[in-house]
Amino acid sequence: MEYQIKKAQITELVRLRFAQPHSVVFNVEFGDYLDLSEFEGRAYVPASLNFTRVKFVNNKTSRRLCVFVCNETGCHKLFRKWHNLFDHMRIHTGERPFLCPVDGCKFTFNQLSNQKKHLDTHKNTSLLKCKVCHQGYSKHNLIPHFENAHTMYNSTVSATIQ
Ligand SMILES: [Zn+2]
Ligand SMILES: [Zn+2]
Ligand SMILES: [Zn+2]
Repeated sequence: MEYQIKKAQITELVRLRFAQPHSVVFNVEFGDYLDLSEFEGRAYVPASLNFTRVKFVNNKTSRRLCVFVCNETGCHKLFRKWHNLFDHMRIHTGERPFLCPVDGCKFTFNQLSNQKKHLDTHKNTSLLKCKVCHQGYSKHNLIPHFENAHTMYNSTVSATIQ
């Protein structure tokens, strides 16, 4: 019932944003009903799945479009890429799942890009130590190593999906 109201509101929002006629058919899926395995990757799944995926064929270009809408009250921001949506959802949840991989550093981040920017603050050290395995890595190799080797830091993803 509540979903039906939401569905109509979201459809109208997307329709107006893309200046589509009423005849366009929108496929609306709510975040908590989506199979999140297709969003697997390096980005952590946010604790809130209060978003909608809307698919439709653009009436002007005949192109298939897929947009994500944040359903948080008063927000309703639109995103074309799911990882941008996930980054955005963390603003609402306050999660900071990205850790600085440098040994002894306590910084945490809500976006992967901020984690990478932060690594520049460690640039005066020629070799940085990984906080998990304590091996030395250059600034550019540390984050890829950390993400690939220490999958336990990705365990929050599967924990969130369940
Ligand atoms: Zn939002
Ligand atoms: Zn750091
Ligand atoms: Zn390591």
